Amino acid sequence: MRFPRYAPRLALLLVVLTGCAAATGGESPEAPGQPAVGDEPTRTPTSRLPSSEPLDPSRTWVVLLGTGTPGAEPDRFGPSTAVVAGGTAYLIDAGPGVVRRASAGAMVTGLQALNAPNLRVAFLTHLHSDHTLGYPDLILSPWVLGRAAPLAVYGPPGLEAMTAALLEAYREDIRVRVEGPERLRRDLLAVETHEIAPGLIYEDPVMRVEAFAVPHGTWDVAFGFKLTTADRTIVISGDTGPFDGLAEIAAGADVLIHEAYGAEGLRQREPETQRYHGTFHTSAIKVGEIAARAGVGMVILHHQLHLAGGTPEEMVEEVRLSFDGEVIYGRDLDAF
Ligand SMILES: [Zn+2]
Ligand SMILES: [Zn+2]
Repeated sequence: MRFPRYAPRLALLLVVLTGCAAATGGESPEAPGQPAVGDEPTRTPTSRLPSSEPLDPSRTWVVLLGTGTPGAEPDRFGPSTAVVAGGTAYLIDAGPGVVRRASAGAMVTGLQALNAPNLRVAFLTHLHSDHTLGYPDLILSPWVLGRAAPLAVYGPPGLEAMTAALLEAYREDIRVRVEGPERLRRDLLAVETHEIAPGLIYEDPVMRVEAFAVPHGTWDVAFGFKLTTADRTIVISGDTGPFDGLAEIAAGADVLIHEAYGAEGLRQREPETQRYHGTFHTSAIKVGEIAARAGVGMVILHHQLHLAGGTPEEMVEEVRLSFDGEVIYGRDLDAF
């Protein structure tokens, strides 16, 4: 089953962002001696919700929180996708800015599950920095903002060590917030980590998540995920080199969210770059072939790599060489 695409216009986003900037006072830098902005939580008034119709929370939605890559593109935050169902946001990956992007997602979609204190479940495809730089943000910020339960995180081996190291890195911040006047509860900061293997890794009354291994260059372990709810099946590739097995895994899925680079762009690059991207990532042409074999309802491209220019339209056309269904060039805060 498909749902109408809900793509907030850039103008709407600019209204939201401009509004937030205005709320900080904006016109002058901080006066000397004033505390740095960011020590204390602030709560954005919910009156900033745009007037557009909120999405129906009884359906399953995909909200692209960040469609970027390691590239510091200002309008594409780090890789993170939310699947929202049954009042819960299931996050896949935690790229830079994940919590603020989720908050923006709540504003433009009306899905309250995306508000910071409600972010409680995440799945990490792999531990590359572009997918995890927002992980300490996801651990700490919702806790500071009132998350009422520990965060549960599912990811590859190494997740526990990374989590422990992050909590250690922020030890003084945590101590001050627990023992100081904020009196935050340390037990709510405990992260429930689950180092996973391929297969069924998560199930609740609303959501079922299966992990599958993907080839991502020299990474020992990297995953993609298949998320199934009562009304939709969504497959997310994670970062992957060309992976023919995905056609079987994604067979009949409503949505395939796949990373991609423009094949023509890569051909114009030096041999070492071609070798790297040819094993770590997947061309848009290959994505189209996989999607066609799988017979998915629609393809959403994210984590798009334009290695030698090339337009979004050209990348979409490369998918369409084989796949005649709907192809979306994903942009931050699009919802489907
Ligand atoms: Zn990546
Ligand atoms: Zn990666």
